[in-house]
Amino acid sequence: MALERTFSIVKPDATRRNLTGAICKMLEDGGLRIVAQKRIQMTQAQAETFYGVHKERPFFGDLVSFMTSGPVVVQVLEGEDAIARNREIMGATNPADAAEGTIRKTFAESIEANSAHGSDSAENAAIEIAYFFAGCEITG
Ligand code: GDP
Repeated sequence: MALERTFSIVKPDATRRNLTGAICKMLEDGGLRIVAQKRIQMTQAQAETFYGVHKERPFFGDLVSFMTSGPVVVQVLEGEDAIARNREIMGATNPADAAEGTIRKTFAESIEANSAHGSDSAENAAIEIAYFFAGCEITG
């Protein structure tokens, strides 16, 4: 196993319900270390770029509106196999399919308002971390 970093977001449905701490606890209990974190209001341009891979999907406009509907907490997580581990802790995209005890099963409101984001590959983790954090903002 390798020590990795991944990018995470506590999404607006979760910040609205004051669940940031509960979600951070699930990440930490799952073996991940929060090595950078900030609460931001994502702009429309940031959300469109971040989710650019989905721009042809029918839900793209709704997704951008949702991600800019309130503050988010962007994070860098570090740990053994952090990318896969975070995906396990989050659970499936659709909370109806997510395993018991995962963030999305516990907290998500819908397939869209699903409380958390986690990078899906090492390549995307590096891109997403660099999009929201300068190197000097990340410390173990
Ligand atoms: P993830 O990697 O598990 O977050 O899933 P995806 O990369 O496939 O989708 C990105 C985000 O788009 C998801 O986390 C949801 O917030 C949203 N999303 C995905 N599928 C749907 C859908 O069918 N409808 C809507 N409204 N939103 C979706």
